[in-house]
Amino acid sequence: MKYDVVVVGAGPAGAIAAKYAARNGARTLLIEEHASIGSPVQCTGLISTKALAECEMGEGNFVLARLRGAFVYAPDCSELTVTGKGVKAYVIDRKMFDRALVEGSVDLGADLLLKTRFIDMEKDKVSVRTDGEKKEIRADTIIGADGIQSSVGRMAGLPRCEKILSGVQFEAPYAAKDPGYVEIFTGNNVAPGFFAWAVPFEGMARIGLAKNQDGFSALHYLERLVKHPVVASRYRGSRTEHVLGGIPLGAPDRTTKDNVMIVGDAAAQVKPTSGGGIYMGAVCAKIAGEVAARAARKETGLEEYEKRWRSAVGRELAIGMRIHKSLGKLSDGDLNEFISFLNTQEMREAITEYGDMDHPSVLLQKIISAGDKRRLIRLLGVAFRTLF
Ligand SMILES: Cc1cc2nc3c(=O)[nH]c(=O)nc-3n(C[C@H](O)[C@H](O)[C@H](O)COP(=O)(O)OP(=O)(O)OC[C@H]3O[C@@H](n4cnc5c(N)ncnc54)[C@H](O)[C@@H]3O)c2cc1C
Repeated sequence: MKYDVVVVGAGPAGAIAAKYAARNGARTLLIEEHASIGSPVQCTGLISTKALAECEMGEGNFVLARLRGAFVYAPDCSELTVTGKGVKAYVIDRKMFDRALVEGSVDLGADLLLKTRFIDMEKDKVSVRTDGEKKEIRADTIIGADGIQSSVGRMAGLPRCEKILSGVQFEAPYAAKDPGYVEIFTGNNVAPGFFAWAVPFEGMARIGLAKNQDGFSALHYLERLVKHPVVASRYRGSRTEHVLGGIPLGAPDRTTKDNVMIVGDAAAQVKPTSGGGIYMGAVCAKIAGEVAARAARKETGLEEYEKRWRSAVGRELAIGMRIHKSLGKLSDGDLNEFISFLNTQEMREAITEYGDMDHPSVLLQKIISAGDKRRLIRLLGVAFRTLF
């Protein structure tokens, strides 16, 4: 078998990279180690309307719920209501969503091999195990879209992400305060270094959290979360669909080497403020697919991918990482103060107007210009002063 581009991993990033390589005329193969697309699921399935558009998907049958805003709970349980204008985000069924994305790449001419595990590579060649048999596939360019553990990135000798958060989640019946609102819980006893969530859909919720890797396990905090006064009053027991997974943050300095590129979680193209990887992964996967196809025609080198994806989302990721680090250091008292700082009419209006799940730096700029700068810098640290 001989291909211009072999994409390893048929998650969202791999499907979109394969679609863009095929669309731009490259003979493309997408391989996936599992027997079916989209499982196991390791996701809350919360994506912004903008992310859905970036994935070039309409409101398909994978949409389970439409969300308009969020209730954010401070450690002292005070509530900040963040309301968007109209639908801001969707709760999706990731299995169906991933399948629709892969169909999109196959429709444009990419070949798909399931139950095919990437095991090794040499220049111009990848080795795979398919149905227990080892096979070799010739490939000019290899795109590693093989997730957080990326064997492609490791074998190419590319550096790893800066840090990994531990995530856990389950689904359960849930009497949401308002089914159009996601609930966010903060606090060092809730999810140290990050936050917890309850994402409602169809009388249920995906209840989970992500946290720094040190200290007690994520499962320990999940047991605490179900006893949180707000969650406990809405949670109706009987858990299903358990998820345990890592969230990579802080993209490595290099994402290409020789004829290899890495994309999506493999390259930690994940928003450090929310842990969401679908939007950034889609933006970068399109560039990867396009560059791979042009490289096949000898029109460019793979370093074009590195330049273009960093210019598209590099700044947003870097600012997101600073916000993540600053918020992660706050004591519960500081978090209470920060949330009360945002809980004024002026701030809530700024959030409604400029809040963008995928580009929090825009809102941050507005908050800094509208609010008490000195109070904000005292709370969030000097790192913020250098941002603007
Ligand atoms: C608890 C949790 C909740 C999350 N919630 C959200 C959310 O609400 N919104 C959001 O945007 N993001 C969320 N994320 C992140 C999101 O799931 C990822 O960013 C996204 O799935 C990354 O897509 P990807 O295509 O890069 O990688 P993946 O989706 O991980 O896909 C990689 C694919 O590669 C395959 N693969 C791996 N190794 C090989 C191999 N050797 N050979 C062949 N195939 C291989 C895997 O089987 C898999 O199908 C969450 C993550 C966690 C852990």
